[in-house]
Amino acid sequence: MTEKVVSLLKPLQARFGGRLIFETDRFPDYARDASEINVKPKAIIFADTEEEVIEIINFCRDRKIPMVFRGAGTGYTGGAVPVENGLVLSLEHLKKLEIIPEKRIGYCGPGVITIDLMKAAEKHRLFYPPDPASYDESTLGGNVAECAGGLHCKKYGVTKDYVIGLKAVTAEGELLKTGIYADNELFDIAGVLIGSEGLLAAVTEIAVSLIELPEKGATILAAFDDSENAARVVSEVTRRGIVPAVMEYMDGDSAACSNQYEKTLELEKTEAILLFETTGIDADKQTDDIMAICRKHRSTILKRETDEEKAETLWKIRRNLSKAVKASAVQKISEDVAVPPSRLPELVAFVAQLDAEYPVRINAYGHAGDGNLHVNFLVEAGKPDYSKEIEEGINRLFDKTLALGGTLTGEHGIGLTKRQFLPREFDAATLGAMKAIKEVFDPQKLLNPGKMF
Ligand SMILES: Cc1cc2nc3c(=O)[nH]c(=O)nc-3n(C[C@H](O)[C@H](O)[C@H](O)COP(=O)(O)OP(=O)(O)OC[C@H]3O[C@@H](n4cnc5c(N)ncnc54)[C@H](O)[C@@H]3O)c2cc1C
Repeated sequence: MTEKVVSLLKPLQARFGGRLIFETDRFPDYARDASEINVKPKAIIFADTEEEVIEIINFCRDRKIPMVFRGAGTGYTGGAVPVENGLVLSLEHLKKLEIIPEKRIGYCGPGVITIDLMKAAEKHRLFYPPDPASYDESTLGGNVAECAGGLHCKKYGVTKDYVIGLKAVTAEGELLKTGIYADNELFDIAGVLIGSEGLLAAVTEIAVSLIELPEKGATILAAFDDSENAARVVSEVTRRGIVPAVMEYMDGDSAACSNQYEKTLELEKTEAILLFETTGIDADKQTDDIMAICRKHRSTILKRETDEEKAETLWKIRRNLSKAVKASAVQKISEDVAVPPSRLPELVAFVAQLDAEYPVRINAYGHAGDGNLHVNFLVEAGKPDYSKEIEEGINRLFDKTLALGGTLTGEHGIGLTKRQFLPREFDAATLGAMKAIKEVFDPQKLLNPGKMF
Protein backbone atom coordinates (compact mmCIF):
# COMPACT_ATOMS: atom_id res chain seq x y z
CA MET A 1 0.00 0.00 0.00
CA THR A 2 2.71 2.49 1.00
CA GLU A 3 4.33 2.81 -2.47
CA LYS A 4 0.90 2.87 -3.99
CA VAL A 5 -0.02 5.90 -1.85
CA VAL A 6 2.35 8.12 -3.86
CA SER A 7 1.00 7.05 -7.23
CA LEU A 8 -2.57 7.25 -5.99
CA LEU A 9 -2.01 10.84 -4.83
CA LYS A 10 -0.31 12.03 -8.06
CA PRO A 11 -3.54 13.25 -9.70
CA LEU A 12 -3.93 15.79 -6.87
CA GLN A 13 -0.69 17.47 -7.94
CA ALA A 14 -2.33 19.29 -10.83
CA ARG A 15 -4.69 20.99 -8.36
CA PHE A 16 -2.36 21.54 -5.40
CA GLY A 17 1.01 22.08 -7.12
CA GLY A 18 3.73 22.89 -4.55
CA ARG A 19 1.29 22.35 -1.70
CA LEU A 20 1.49 18.58 -2.27
CA ILE A 21 4.93 17.34 -1.35
CA PHE A 22 6.36 13.90 -2.10
CA GLU A 23 10.01 14.67 -1.26
CA THR A 24 9.11 14.66 2.41
CA ASP A 25 12.81 14.59 3.45
CA ARG A 26 12.72 18.34 2.81
CA PHE A 27 10.23 18.71 5.67
CA PRO A 28 11.71 16.61 8.49
CA ASP A 29 9.53 18.31 11.11
CA TYR A 30 6.44 16.71 9.56
CA ALA A 31 7.75 13.25 10.45
CA ARG A 32 7.57 13.94 14.20
CA ASP A 33 6.01 15.85 17.05
CA ALA A 34 7.27 16.70 20.53
CA SER A 35 7.25 12.97 21.42
CA GLU A 36 10.25 12.70 19.06
CA ILE A 37 8.82 9.58 17.43
CA ASN A 38 9.90 9.86 13.83
CA VAL A 39 8.10 8.28 10.84
CA LYS A 40 8.54 9.74 7.38
CA PRO A 41 5.19 10.54 5.69
CA LYS A 42 4.55 9.36 2.14
CA ALA A 43 3.30 12.82 1.28
CA ILE A 44 2.33 16.12 2.89
CA ILE A 45 -0.48 18.33 1.67
CA PHE A 46 -1.33 21.86 2.81
CA ALA A 47 -5.02 22.75 2.53
CA ASP A 48 -5.88 26.46 2.24
CA THR A 49 -9.65 26.26 2.64
CA GLU A 50 -12.39 24.10 4.13
CA GLU A 51 -13.49 23.17 0.60
CA GLU A 52 -10.00 21.84 -0.09
CA VAL A 53 -10.10 19.77 3.11
CA ILE A 54 -13.35 18.20 1.90
CA GLU A 55 -11.86 17.59 -1.54
CA ILE A 56 -8.73 15.94 -0.15
CA ILE A 57 -10.67 13.74 2.28
CA ASN A 58 -13.09 12.62 -0.43
CA PHE A 59 -10.16 11.82 -2.72
CA CYS A 60 -8.40 9.78 -0.03
CA ARG A 61 -11.59 8.02 1.08
CA ASP A 62 -12.21 6.75 -2.46
CA ARG A 63 -8.65 5.40 -2.65
CA LYS A 64 -8.40 4.20 0.97
CA ILE A 65 -5.39 6.42 1.70
CA PRO A 66 -4.69 6.87 5.44
CA MET A 67 -4.59 10.50 6.64
CA VAL A 68 -3.05 12.24 9.63
CA PHE A 69 -4.22 15.77 10.41
CA ARG A 70 -1.60 18.14 11.66
CA GLY A 71 -1.43 21.48 13.44
CA ALA A 72 1.91 22.68 14.79
CA GLY A 73 3.23 19.24 15.79
CA THR A 74 3.75 20.19 19.45
CA GLY A 75 1.77 17.18 20.71
CA TYR A 76 3.58 15.02 23.24
CA THR A 77 2.09 11.61 22.45
CA GLY A 78 2.89 11.08 18.77
CA GLY A 79 -0.63 12.06 17.66
CA ALA A 80 0.50 13.89 14.52
CA VAL A 81 3.14 11.29 13.54
CA PRO A 82 2.14 9.36 10.38
CA VAL A 83 2.88 5.88 11.75
CA GLU A 84 1.18 4.11 8.87
CA ASN A 85 3.06 6.05 6.18
CA GLY A 86 0.03 7.86 4.88
CA LEU A 87 -0.69 11.44 3.92
CA VAL A 88 -0.10 14.26 6.40
CA LEU A 89 -2.86 16.82 5.90
CA SER A 90 -1.72 20.13 7.38
CA LEU A 91 -4.42 22.53 8.57
CA GLU A 92 -1.90 25.25 9.42
CA HIS A 93 -2.95 27.55 6.56
CA LEU A 94 -6.55 27.87 7.77
CA LYS A 95 -5.99 31.04 9.77
CA LYS A 96 -9.33 32.85 9.83
CA LEU A 97 -9.49 34.95 13.00
CA GLU A 98 -12.50 37.12 13.66
CA ILE A 99 -13.53 38.54 17.03
CA ILE A 100 -17.09 39.76 17.54
CA PRO A 101 -16.60 41.79 20.75
CA GLU A 102 -20.28 42.60 21.37
CA LYS A 103 -21.08 38.86 21.33
CA ARG A 104 -17.82 37.84 23.03
CA ILE A 105 -17.21 35.21 20.37
CA GLY A 106 -14.11 34.36 18.35
CA TYR A 107 -14.28 32.50 15.02
CA CYS A 108 -11.01 30.74 14.29
CA GLY A 109 -9.47 28.57 11.65
CA PRO A 110 -7.71 25.48 13.07
CA GLY A 111 -4.32 26.91 12.02
CA VAL A 112 -4.55 29.96 14.30
CA ILE A 113 -1.75 29.93 16.88
CA THR A 114 -3.22 29.96 20.40
CA ILE A 115 -1.43 33.14 21.49
CA ASP A 116 -2.69 35.00 18.40
CA LEU A 117 -6.28 34.36 19.47
CA MET A 118 -5.43 35.55 23.00
CA LYS A 119 -3.80 38.74 21.69
CA ALA A 120 -6.66 39.47 19.29
CA ALA A 121 -9.17 39.05 22.15
CA GLU A 122 -7.12 41.28 24.45
CA LYS A 123 -7.43 44.18 22.02
CA HIS A 124 -11.13 44.18 22.96
CA ARG A 125 -10.39 43.68 26.67
CA LEU A 126 -11.50 40.06 26.26
CA PHE A 127 -9.77 36.88 27.42
CA TYR A 128 -9.36 33.39 25.94
CA PRO A 129 -8.01 31.47 28.96
CA PRO A 130 -6.88 27.95 27.78
CA ASP A 131 -3.16 28.60 27.46
CA PRO A 132 -1.00 25.48 27.08
CA ALA A 133 2.64 26.23 27.85
CA SER A 134 3.14 25.76 24.09
CA TYR A 135 0.70 28.63 23.35
CA ASP A 136 3.17 30.50 21.14
CA GLU A 137 3.40 27.48 18.78
CA SER A 138 0.35 25.22 19.15
CA THR A 139 -2.71 25.66 16.93
CA LEU A 140 -6.35 25.96 17.92
CA GLY A 141 -7.10 22.82 15.86
CA GLY A 142 -4.52 20.87 17.85
CA ASN A 143 -5.84 22.37 21.11
CA VAL A 144 -9.36 21.18 20.25
CA ALA A 145 -8.16 17.74 19.13
CA GLU A 146 -6.25 17.29 22.41
CA CYS A 147 -8.65 19.30 24.62
CA ALA A 148 -5.58 21.23 25.75
CA GLY A 149 -5.27 22.55 29.26
CA GLY A 150 -2.87 25.19 30.44
CA LEU A 151 -1.66 27.45 33.19
CA HIS A 152 -4.97 29.30 33.62
CA CYS A 153 -7.13 26.18 33.52
CA LYS A 154 -7.62 25.62 37.24
CA LYS A 155 -9.69 28.78 37.58
CA TYR A 156 -10.96 29.26 34.04
CA GLY A 157 -11.30 25.78 32.56
CA VAL A 158 -9.82 23.91 29.57
CA THR A 159 -10.42 24.10 25.82
CA LYS A 160 -13.77 22.27 25.93
CA ASP A 161 -15.15 24.91 28.30
CA TYR A 162 -14.75 27.61 25.62
CA VAL A 163 -15.69 25.82 22.38
CA ILE A 164 -19.25 26.75 21.45
CA GLY A 165 -19.26 25.34 17.95
CA LEU A 166 -17.16 23.38 15.50
CA LYS A 167 -17.11 22.73 11.79
CA ALA A 168 -15.44 19.45 10.94
CA VAL A 169 -15.06 17.09 7.98
CA THR A 170 -15.58 13.38 8.67
CA ALA A 171 -13.73 10.54 6.95
CA GLU A 172 -16.76 10.26 4.65
CA GLY A 173 -16.09 13.82 3.46
CA GLU A 174 -19.19 15.21 5.16
CA LEU A 175 -19.09 18.68 6.69
CA LEU A 176 -20.51 18.58 10.22
CA LYS A 177 -21.77 21.81 11.76
CA THR A 178 -22.12 21.70 15.52
CA GLY A 179 -23.00 24.08 18.37
CA ILE A 180 -23.61 27.64 17.15
CA TYR A 181 -22.93 26.60 13.54
CA ALA A 182 -25.88 24.16 13.63
CA ASP A 183 -29.53 25.07 13.20
CA ASN A 184 -30.33 22.59 15.90
CA GLU A 185 -28.83 19.43 17.39
CA LEU A 186 -29.78 16.81 19.93
CA PHE A 187 -26.47 15.17 20.81
CA ASP A 188 -23.42 17.24 21.78
CA ILE A 189 -21.38 16.35 18.70
CA ALA A 190 -18.75 19.04 19.37
CA GLY A 191 -18.29 17.39 22.78
CA VAL A 192 -17.48 14.11 21.04
CA LEU A 193 -15.01 15.76 18.64
CA ILE A 194 -13.13 17.72 21.33
CA GLY A 195 -10.28 15.51 22.51
CA SER A 196 -10.75 13.01 19.68
CA GLU A 197 -7.10 13.40 18.57
CA GLY A 198 -7.75 13.51 14.84
CA LEU A 199 -9.44 10.09 14.86
CA LEU A 200 -12.95 11.23 13.98
CA ALA A 201 -12.82 14.32 11.73
CA ALA A 202 -10.71 17.26 10.55
CA VAL A 203 -11.69 20.38 12.49
CA THR A 204 -11.98 23.23 9.99
CA GLU A 205 -13.45 26.05 12.10
CA ILE A 206 -13.82 26.71 15.80
CA ALA A 207 -16.14 29.16 17.54
CA VAL A 208 -14.99 30.05 21.05
CA SER A 209 -16.57 32.09 23.80
CA LEU A 210 -14.46 34.84 25.34
CA ILE A 211 -14.71 36.35 28.80
CA GLU A 212 -14.01 39.82 30.12
CA LEU A 213 -10.31 40.36 30.77
CA PRO A 214 -10.05 39.81 34.53
CA GLU A 215 -8.55 42.38 36.89
CA LYS A 216 -4.90 41.50 37.46
CA GLY A 217 -3.68 40.93 40.99
CA ALA A 218 -0.14 39.75 41.58
CA THR A 219 2.37 37.11 40.61
CA ILE A 220 3.79 35.20 43.59
CA LEU A 221 6.93 33.08 43.54
CA ALA A 222 7.55 30.84 46.52
CA ALA A 223 10.59 28.59 46.92
CA PHE A 224 10.84 25.68 49.38
CA ASP A 225 13.56 23.48 50.88
CA ASP A 226 11.19 20.53 50.84
CA SER A 227 9.09 19.64 47.78
CA GLU A 228 6.38 18.06 49.95
CA ASN A 229 5.89 21.40 51.72
CA ALA A 230 5.25 23.01 48.33
CA ALA A 231 2.69 20.30 47.55
CA ARG A 232 1.08 20.87 50.98
CA VAL A 233 0.61 24.53 50.04
CA VAL A 234 -1.25 23.39 46.90
CA SER A 235 -3.49 21.12 48.99
CA GLU A 236 -4.22 23.81 51.56
CA VAL A 237 -4.94 26.54 48.99
CA THR A 238 -7.37 24.15 47.29
CA ARG A 239 -8.95 22.98 50.56
CA ARG A 240 -9.58 26.55 51.69
CA GLY A 241 -11.37 27.37 48.46
CA ILE A 242 -8.82 29.93 47.29
CA VAL A 243 -8.78 29.80 43.48
CA PRO A 244 -5.76 31.58 42.00
CA ALA A 245 -5.77 32.00 38.22
CA VAL A 246 -2.53 30.01 38.05
CA MET A 247 -0.85 27.63 40.49
CA GLU A 248 2.24 25.96 38.99
CA TYR A 249 4.65 23.55 40.65
CA MET A 250 8.22 22.73 39.65
CA ASP A 251 10.76 20.69 41.57
CA GLY A 252 14.28 21.92 42.26
CA ASP A 253 15.91 20.07 39.37
CA SER A 254 13.38 21.41 36.83
CA ALA A 255 13.79 24.96 38.17
CA ALA A 256 17.58 24.65 37.96
CA CYS A 257 17.31 23.43 34.32
CA SER A 258 15.15 26.43 33.45
CA ASN A 259 17.44 28.93 35.13
CA GLN A 260 20.42 27.39 33.39
CA TYR A 261 18.66 27.57 30.02
CA GLU A 262 17.91 31.28 30.49
CA LYS A 263 18.97 33.00 33.66
CA THR A 264 15.84 34.76 34.83
CA LEU A 265 16.33 34.59 38.58
CA GLU A 266 19.09 34.84 41.13
CA LEU A 267 18.12 31.41 42.36
CA GLU A 268 19.92 29.58 45.12
CA LYS A 269 19.52 25.83 45.30
CA THR A 270 15.93 25.03 46.11
CA GLU A 271 13.86 21.83 46.29
CA ALA A 272 10.68 23.27 44.78
CA ILE A 273 9.04 26.41 43.42
CA LEU A 274 5.40 27.42 43.25
CA LEU A 275 4.22 30.20 40.97
CA PHE A 276 0.82 31.82 41.40
CA GLU A 277 -1.15 34.47 39.61
CA THR A 278 -4.14 36.06 41.28
CA THR A 279 -6.96 37.78 39.41
CA GLY A 280 -10.41 39.22 40.12
CA ILE A 281 -11.85 41.76 42.53
CA ASP A 282 -10.58 39.86 45.59
CA ALA A 283 -7.10 39.38 44.09
CA ASP A 284 -5.30 41.25 46.89
CA LYS A 285 -6.93 39.11 49.56
CA GLN A 286 -6.09 35.94 47.61
CA THR A 287 -2.49 37.12 47.33
CA ASP A 288 -2.25 37.79 51.09
CA ASP A 289 -3.84 34.43 51.95
CA ILE A 290 -1.60 32.47 49.58
CA MET A 291 1.52 34.17 50.92
CA ALA A 292 0.46 33.38 54.49
CA ILE A 293 -0.02 29.70 53.58
CA CYS A 294 3.41 29.63 51.88
CA ARG A 295 5.00 31.09 55.04
CA LYS A 296 3.20 28.53 57.21
CA HIS A 297 4.75 25.76 55.11
CA ARG A 298 8.23 27.30 55.46
CA SER A 299 8.71 28.96 52.10
CA THR A 300 12.31 30.15 51.92
CA ILE A 301 12.01 32.80 49.20
CA LEU A 302 8.71 34.62 48.74
CA LYS A 303 8.27 37.29 46.06
CA ARG A 304 5.15 39.30 45.22
CA GLU A 305 5.21 41.16 41.91
CA THR A 306 2.57 43.47 40.47
CA ASP A 307 4.68 45.15 37.80
CA GLU A 308 3.76 43.25 34.62
CA GLU A 309 7.21 43.38 33.06
CA LYS A 310 8.91 42.11 36.20
CA ALA A 311 6.23 39.44 36.65
CA GLU A 312 6.91 38.28 33.08
CA THR A 313 10.52 37.52 34.10
CA LEU A 314 9.19 35.23 36.83
CA TRP A 315 6.89 33.47 34.34
CA LYS A 316 9.77 32.86 31.96
CA ILE A 317 11.12 30.25 34.34
CA ARG A 318 7.84 28.33 33.85
CA ARG A 319 7.41 28.96 30.13
CA ASN A 320 10.96 27.74 29.40
CA LEU A 321 10.64 24.57 31.49
CA SER A 322 9.82 22.01 28.82
CA LYS A 323 12.58 23.10 26.45
CA ALA A 324 15.03 23.58 29.32
CA VAL A 325 14.51 20.13 30.81
CA LYS A 326 14.81 18.61 27.34
CA ALA A 327 18.06 20.50 26.71
CA SER A 328 19.49 19.10 29.96
CA ALA A 329 19.49 15.49 28.70
CA VAL A 330 19.96 13.35 25.60
CA GLN A 331 16.38 12.12 25.85
CA LYS A 332 13.39 13.25 27.89
CA ILE A 333 10.66 10.68 28.42
CA SER A 334 7.81 12.77 29.71
CA GLU A 335 4.77 11.33 31.49
CA ASP A 336 1.67 13.39 32.12
CA VAL A 337 -0.20 12.19 35.18
CA ALA A 338 -2.74 13.97 37.36
CA VAL A 339 -4.23 13.27 40.79
CA PRO A 340 -6.77 15.12 42.94
CA PRO A 341 -4.84 18.16 44.33
CA SER A 342 -5.34 16.83 47.88
CA ARG A 343 -3.20 13.79 46.92
CA LEU A 344 -0.41 15.85 45.29
CA PRO A 345 1.91 15.68 48.34
CA GLU A 346 1.84 11.86 48.09
CA LEU A 347 2.60 11.92 44.37
CA VAL A 348 5.42 14.45 44.79
CA ALA A 349 6.93 12.31 47.55
CA PHE A 350 6.65 9.23 45.33
CA VAL A 351 8.47 10.95 42.45
CA ALA A 352 11.27 11.96 44.83
CA GLN A 353 11.44 8.32 45.99
CA LEU A 354 11.68 7.10 42.36
CA ASP A 355 14.43 9.64 41.68
CA ALA A 356 16.39 8.33 44.66
CA GLU A 357 15.87 4.66 43.77
CA TYR A 358 16.62 4.67 40.03
CA PRO A 359 19.94 5.38 38.30
CA VAL A 360 18.34 7.99 35.97
CA ARG A 361 17.47 11.59 36.79
CA ILE A 362 13.73 12.03 37.34
CA ASN A 363 12.16 15.46 37.76
CA ALA A 364 8.66 16.89 37.71
CA TYR A 365 6.62 20.03 37.16
CA GLY A 366 3.04 20.84 36.24
CA HIS A 367 -0.25 22.65 36.63
CA ALA A 368 -0.52 21.96 40.35
CA GLY A 369 -3.95 23.52 40.68
CA ASP A 370 -5.29 20.62 38.61
CA GLY A 371 -3.07 18.08 40.38
CA ASN A 372 -1.25 17.70 37.06
CA LEU A 373 2.39 16.59 37.11
CA HIS A 374 4.70 16.10 34.12
CA VAL A 375 7.18 13.52 35.34
CA ASN A 376 10.35 13.34 33.24
CA PHE A 377 12.72 10.40 33.02
CA LEU A 378 15.98 11.84 31.67
CA VAL A 379 18.52 9.86 29.69
CA GLU A 380 21.95 11.43 30.03
CA ALA A 381 25.01 11.27 27.78
CA GLY A 382 27.59 8.59 28.52
CA LYS A 383 25.33 6.60 30.86
CA PRO A 384 24.48 2.89 30.35
CA ASP A 385 21.20 1.87 28.74
CA TYR A 386 18.64 2.13 31.53
CA SER A 387 15.55 1.59 29.35
CA LYS A 388 14.37 -1.39 31.45
CA GLU A 389 14.65 0.63 34.66
CA ILE A 390 12.80 3.55 33.03
CA GLU A 391 10.01 1.26 31.88
CA GLU A 392 9.68 -0.17 35.38
CA GLY A 393 9.74 3.32 36.93
CA ILE A 394 6.98 4.51 34.58
CA ASN A 395 4.85 1.50 35.43
CA ARG A 396 5.27 2.15 39.14
CA LEU A 397 4.39 5.82 38.59
CA PHE A 398 1.20 4.78 36.78
CA ASP A 399 0.23 2.28 39.49
CA LYS A 400 0.69 4.94 42.15
CA THR A 401 -1.25 7.56 40.16
CA LEU A 402 -4.21 5.22 39.70
CA ALA A 403 -4.07 4.20 43.35
CA LEU A 404 -4.30 7.90 44.28
CA GLY A 405 -7.47 8.21 42.19
CA GLY A 406 -5.67 9.92 39.32
CA THR A 407 -5.35 9.66 35.56
CA LEU A 408 -2.46 8.62 33.30
CA THR A 409 -3.08 11.42 30.86
CA GLY A 410 -3.60 14.80 32.46
CA GLU A 411 -3.69 16.80 29.24
CA HIS A 412 -1.42 15.38 26.53
CA GLY A 413 -3.81 12.74 25.21
CA ILE A 414 -3.26 9.10 24.27
CA GLY A 415 -1.87 9.16 20.71
CA LEU A 416 0.75 6.51 20.26
CA THR A 417 2.75 6.63 23.44
CA LYS A 418 -0.13 6.04 25.89
CA ARG A 419 -2.05 3.58 23.72
CA GLN A 420 -0.89 0.48 25.58
CA PHE A 421 -2.11 1.90 28.91
CA LEU A 422 -5.68 2.60 27.78
CA PRO A 423 -7.18 -0.62 29.20
CA ARG A 424 -5.63 0.18 32.59
CA GLU A 425 -7.57 3.40 32.87
CA PHE A 426 -10.84 2.78 31.01
CA ASP A 427 -13.31 -0.02 31.65
CA ALA A 428 -14.44 -2.26 28.80
CA ALA A 429 -17.81 -0.50 28.40
CA THR A 430 -16.22 2.96 28.02
CA LEU A 431 -13.59 1.65 25.62
CA GLY A 432 -16.31 -0.13 23.64
CA ALA A 433 -18.36 3.07 23.38
CA MET A 434 -15.33 5.03 22.13
CA LYS A 435 -14.54 2.36 19.53
CA ALA A 436 -18.17 2.37 18.37
CA ILE A 437 -18.04 6.17 17.90
CA LYS A 438 -14.85 5.78 15.85
CA GLU A 439 -16.65 3.23 13.65
CA VAL A 440 -19.49 5.69 12.95
CA PHE A 441 -17.22 8.60 11.98
CA ASP A 442 -14.53 6.60 10.18
CA PRO A 443 -15.77 3.15 9.10
CA GLN A 444 -12.73 2.52 6.88
CA LYS A 445 -10.30 3.48 9.68
CA LEU A 446 -8.47 5.99 7.50
CA LEU A 447 -8.10 8.78 10.06
CA ASN A 448 -4.96 8.68 12.16
CA PRO A 449 -4.61 4.89 12.04
CA GLY A 450 -2.52 3.19 14.70
CA LYS A 451 -3.41 5.74 17.37
CA MET A 452 -5.33 5.43 20.62
CA PHE A 453 -6.92 1.97 20.20
C1 LIG B 1 6.76 23.02 25.31
C2 LIG B 1 5.41 22.36 25.32
C3 LIG B 1 4.51 22.68 26.31
C4 LIG B 1 3.22 22.11 26.32
N1 LIG B 1 2.36 22.49 27.29
C5 LIG B 1 1.09 21.98 27.27
C6 LIG B 1 0.14 22.39 28.25
O1 LIG B 1 0.42 23.20 29.14
N2 LIG B 1 -1.11 21.86 28.17
C7 LIG B 1 -1.47 20.97 27.19
O2 LIG B 1 -2.64 20.54 27.16
N3 LIG B 1 -0.59 20.56 26.28
C8 LIG B 1 0.67 21.04 26.26
N4 LIG B 1 1.57 20.65 25.31
C9 LIG B 1 1.16 19.66 24.27
C10 LIG B 1 0.66 20.30 22.95
O3 LIG B 1 1.18 21.60 22.76
C11 LIG B 1 -0.87 20.37 22.91
O4 LIG B 1 -1.40 19.05 22.90
C12 LIG B 1 -1.42 21.12 21.69
O5 LIG B 1 -2.82 21.21 21.81
C13 LIG B 1 -1.08 20.46 20.34
O6 LIG B 1 -1.38 21.39 19.32
P1 LIG B 1 -0.68 21.25 17.88
O7 LIG B 1 -1.24 22.29 16.99
O8 LIG B 1 0.78 21.24 18.02
O9 LIG B 1 -1.21 19.81 17.45
P2 LIG B 1 -0.42 18.61 16.72
O10 LIG B 1 0.71 18.15 17.57
O11 LIG B 1 -0.11 18.99 15.31
O12 LIG B 1 -1.56 17.49 16.70
C14 LIG B 1 -2.02 16.93 17.90
C15 LIG B 1 -3.19 15.99 17.59
O13 LIG B 1 -4.29 16.74 17.10
C16 LIG B 1 -4.68 16.29 15.81
N5 LIG B 1 -5.06 17.48 15.06
C17 LIG B 1 -4.32 18.61 14.85
N6 LIG B 1 -5.04 19.52 14.17
C18 LIG B 1 -6.25 18.96 13.93
C19 LIG B 1 -7.43 19.40 13.27
N7 LIG B 1 -7.52 20.60 12.71
N8 LIG B 1 -8.49 18.55 13.20
C20 LIG B 1 -8.44 17.32 13.78
N9 LIG B 1 -7.34 16.86 14.42
C21 LIG B 1 -6.27 17.67 14.50
C22 LIG B 1 -3.47 15.56 15.26
O14 LIG B 1 -3.85 14.56 14.33
C23 LIG B 1 -2.87 14.96 16.50
O15 LIG B 1 -3.50 13.76 16.84
C24 LIG B 1 2.87 21.18 25.30
C25 LIG B 1 3.80 20.85 24.31
C26 LIG B 1 5.05 21.42 24.32
C27 LIG B 1 6.02 21.04 23.24
